Amino acid sequence: MNLDLPVSKLPTIGPAYAKRLNKLDITTLGDLLYHVPHRYNDFRTLSPIREVQPEETVTIKGTILSIKNIYTRYGKKIQIGEVEDKSGLMQVVWFNQPYLIKNISKGGLYSFSGKATLFNRKITLMSPEYESVEIGSNNLHTGRLVPIYPETARVSSKWLRGKIFTIINLHKSEISDPLPDKLLKKLKLPDLYSSLLHSHFPDNLEQAEIGKKRLAFDELLYHQVSSLDKKNDWQKVKVAKSLNIDNDTFDMFLASLPFSLTDSQKHAVKEIFSDLSKSYPMNRLLEGDVGSGKTAVAAAAAFAAFTEGYQSVFMAPTQILANQHFNTLNTIFAAFKVRISLITSEGVKADLGKSDIIVGTHALIHKKVKFDKVALVVIDEQHRFGVEQRAHLIKKAGDRRTSPHVLTLTATPIPRTVALTFYGDLDLSTLDELPGGRRPITTWIVPQFKRNSAYDWIKKQIKEFKTQAFVICPLIEEPQIETMKQIKAATREYEKLTKIFKDYHVGLLHGKQKAKDKNLMLDKFSKGDIEILVSTPVVEVGIDIPNATIMIIEASERFGLAQLHQLRGRIGRGEKKSYCLLFTENTSRLVRARLKALKENKSGFELAELDLKLRGPGEIFGTRQHGFHNLKIANWQDIYLIKKAKEIAKEVISNPNDYRQLIAQIKSKNIVPN
Ligand code: ADP
Ligand code: MG
Repeated sequence: MNLDLPVSKLPTIGPAYAKRLNKLDITTLGDLLYHVPHRYNDFRTLSPIREVQPEETVTIKGTILSIKNIYTRYGKKIQIGEVEDKSGLMQVVWFNQPYLIKNISKGGLYSFSGKATLFNRKITLMSPEYESVEIGSNNLHTGRLVPIYPETARVSSKWLRGKIFTIINLHKSEISDPLPDKLLKKLKLPDLYSSLLHSHFPDNLEQAEIGKKRLAFDELLYHQVSSLDKKNDWQKVKVAKSLNIDNDTFDMFLASLPFSLTDSQKHAVKEIFSDLSKSYPMNRLLEGDVGSGKTAVAAAAAFAAFTEGYQSVFMAPTQILANQHFNTLNTIFAAFKVRISLITSEGVKADLGKSDIIVGTHALIHKKVKFDKVALVVIDEQHRFGVEQRAHLIKKAGDRRTSPHVLTLTATPIPRTVALTFYGDLDLSTLDELPGGRRPITTWIVPQFKRNSAYDWIKKQIKEFKTQAFVICPLIEEPQIETMKQIKAATREYEKLTKIFKDYHVGLLHGKQKAKDKNLMLDKFSKGDIEILVSTPVVEVGIDIPNATIMIIEASERFGLAQLHQLRGRIGRGEKKSYCLLFTENTSRLVRARLKALKENKSGFELAELDLKLRGPGEIFGTRQHGFHNLKIANWQDIYLIKKAKEIAKEVISNPNDYRQLIAQIKSKNIVPN
């Protein structure tokens, strides 16, 4: 039996169970084996019945003298049995499992593991694990370190234990190790069979730990090999146009900008220019906080394409951001004869026919936009686009044999360990400083009882300093999708604030508004006709309104830290001092500790690392729907193992012949997430 076979190939797993296992991400027999326990019950202490003490966790072995259901006054069923060994007699009790009396038969020899307590003044094992003891049988559920697994509805640890034990034992010969002995020796890791056996059924915790370490290494290696393999494939593609940069022309471009680039912008431009001159297409991710100036860097790349007579395509996730890019690029290229078109689903604002830069939303993919000679594709905010949209645009911009250079921009800070594991196919540039002139933002945590005084304070600020405020509504469901519920909540908040701020102009912005209305609203806000803008969390992370200096975030504890940091990045852009007010009704210590991190002026990266530790990567990236898988076995904090896996992944890719089985296995899984 091949471990890549679906679980339903096991005679005892029917379609119903196969479906339930799917919820645990288990589809193949191999997946089942790699479903490792998150802890173990220590039932190793075997005791004669007479010596069992209250509060002791023990295993007893004995004959069942009786077992019956009894009914309590409240209509509950209790199962009470009597067990006897040579030393004495004791009670075993379960609650609400009436079928048990059929599974456990009178006169049979059983082993029971659990915690002893006093019940009706008798020493009793409460809800113990049990199994029948036959000569020569293996004990799985009692009398040992018993694995406890991540479970799902109607898939219990007991059930999983049985199936996993069957595969490990009946199919031992088919568990062949994809890693060569030599490598395992070098890494001091055990072979696959013993790693599996010891992860699931260890004799002691040390064994379990080293077994799990090996499986964690496998997991990391699989991810890293598959993303490096993707990179390898990418590099075999012929580039549409390799671009060489004429330094003098570029200096002229720099001189024309209204500002000078920050050091990290300069560094990123250098990395990008080096990519652009290669014979295979660039595939680079440019990450930087909101306001770090990613557009100017992308514009430098577009300038390189322009000087060689080629087009660039900019795809933004929303109409407003596409508009903003269009305006920014027009400003940046004012001194040059760069023709820029804007194309969105609302229509073509400016289609110059022959243009040098085409800016748009995903409408770029579907509309009849003619791409002539595209050398560069820029994709803004990659997490807002699905894998397919991204691939479509790149394909449309290239032809059958070639691909354009691809630059992806993201404000999501990617922790180093995550980048090493999941983004091996992309090269990474980081903007880790904000352009000068930004003032630090003062951040306050505002509990419920201070809400009204906060509103009064805001009114005063607006009056006195002619400033403006954003109000971000609570995050209701998924961080990156805007649901109707979310829009209703924003509308309610808007109505409430219109009353509270009745002498001011309050506006509402959400994703389901028509683009025209959204633009109008933003326009009013940027002109100062509206002082307070209520918006859903999803809307327009990138908008740039320097006069807005106050940001209120409702139910701030529901957001990831990096996400709060991004939202806060919309203020602090002008000359005036900026304030971020984190409203929260939750006063628990953990919430306060998390939110406090935001007061400490940490960078987006530090905050992302912190959330990775406290709440996992879902906080940073959203859920699997957005193409992000979490690690199942390995731990994000295990930097050593992650680096080792990276090193070996490189070796695997450069010596594929030594790792044929591994590569075949990885290809069959197709696990690349991004
Ligand atoms: P983001 O990285 O969030 O996309 P933008 O590219 O929109 O940031 O830049 C934010 C603002 O900062 C824009 O108004 C842009 O013109 C300005 N900017 C970019 N680079 C610099 C710089 N080096 N110095 C001053 N301002 C800059
Ligand atoms: Mg931007």
